[in-house]
Amino acid sequence: MVSVTLDGLTKSFSRSGVVVDRMNLRIEEGEFFTLLGPSGCGKSTTLRMIAGFEEPDSGHILFNDRDVTYMPANRRDVGLVFQNYALFPHMSVAGNVAFGLTVRKIRGAVAEERIRQVLAQVHLTEQADARVDELSGGQQQRVALARALVYRPQLLLLDEPMSNLDAKLRLETRGALRNLHAETGITSIYVTHDQAEALAMSTRVAVMNTAEVHQVGTPADVYERPSTRFVATFLGRNNIFDGVVTEVAGDVVSVRLGDGSTIQGSASRTSPGLPLAPGNAVGVTIRAETIRPASQTDTQNVVSGTVTDVEYVGATLSCELETPIGAVLLDLIGAGIRPTLGDRLSVLLSAASIYFVTAEPAP
Ligand code: ADP
Ligand code: MG
Repeated sequence: MVSVTLDGLTKSFSRSGVVVDRMNLRIEEGEFFTLLGPSGCGKSTTLRMIAGFEEPDSGHILFNDRDVTYMPANRRDVGLVFQNYALFPHMSVAGNVAFGLTVRKIRGAVAEERIRQVLAQVHLTEQADARVDELSGGQQQRVALARALVYRPQLLLLDEPMSNLDAKLRLETRGALRNLHAETGITSIYVTHDQAEALAMSTRVAVMNTAEVHQVGTPADVYERPSTRFVATFLGRNNIFDGVVTEVAGDVVSVRLGDGSTIQGSASRTSPGLPLAPGNAVGVTIRAETIRPASQTDTQNVVSGTVTDVEYVGATLSCELETPIGAVLLDLIGAGIRPTLGDRLSVLLSAASIYFVTAEPAP
């Protein structure tokens, strides 16, 4: 297995400008590492450079200590799975998987044994002789995986491999992929714009926006301790209110919001390096799932408003409140109340759930 180092990797296209900007990343041996970000932020371009389909303008790519920046793709020993599986529809499952070996001149009994093993790993043993176009989307996706894994590459690159699957299959495939990674231990780099996939599968995640990496960390790091305003709002359903710090008393930070009200949070819950001193502008975030109806005894951080939107999504009831501090999104889970449009509701924005990020940049 290999580690992968990206050192100052930069790529621009004449029409699009800089799409990957001085990227530095270190992916350790055996990791399941995910590049997560909105469409167009440069994820696929980064992956294509690692695969060898695209040359960077500057910077370097290392597999272990070996510089592979300009090495041809077919010599990099990398397995690829893309959104479009590019399978041969009329060929059998085994035939498609064998193709991954034939191009590397592995034939005969060795090839057969490899194919048998890899089909077992992706749970397609019984479908070995079926034609690919007779399989479900999820099974086809696993054929593509098997074909990428059969020659035992040192690195597996996956670019939105589940985007053609329906929601339920995506969930199942997520689990299958996680198990497969645990079994093979192969260093894997996964690209997705789907935060749930990234959080569920990865050892670490790099959150990207417009050609830049904003944060690298474990799923819990990026969700619970976002290092930028973008990361805070890109992941999950988050509320963000801009205000000015009025007081810092020990751990308690008071912030005056736009309507003149004061909200309090904890000084320990801030993006790294964010200066929290009186007079400083700050973004106050609070996740929708941490907000709950206020009780009689709650006094601080209580906001009241009118319910303007209710969405029933099974496990949660997603509501939007119109309040003096702005719209407040909240997800009620088993709260015992069922607000309806036009209801008045008071909610608690618990100080323990508030997280401070940088203020909105001046226009
Ligand atoms: P993502 O995978 O995150 O959606 P991409 O890496 O595919 O993003 O693309 C990043 C940006 O680079 C986009 O603006 C895209 O239009 C542009 N881009 C990608 N490939 C090319 C290309 N071959 N020529 C010109 N622009 C490109
Ligand atoms: Mg892409």
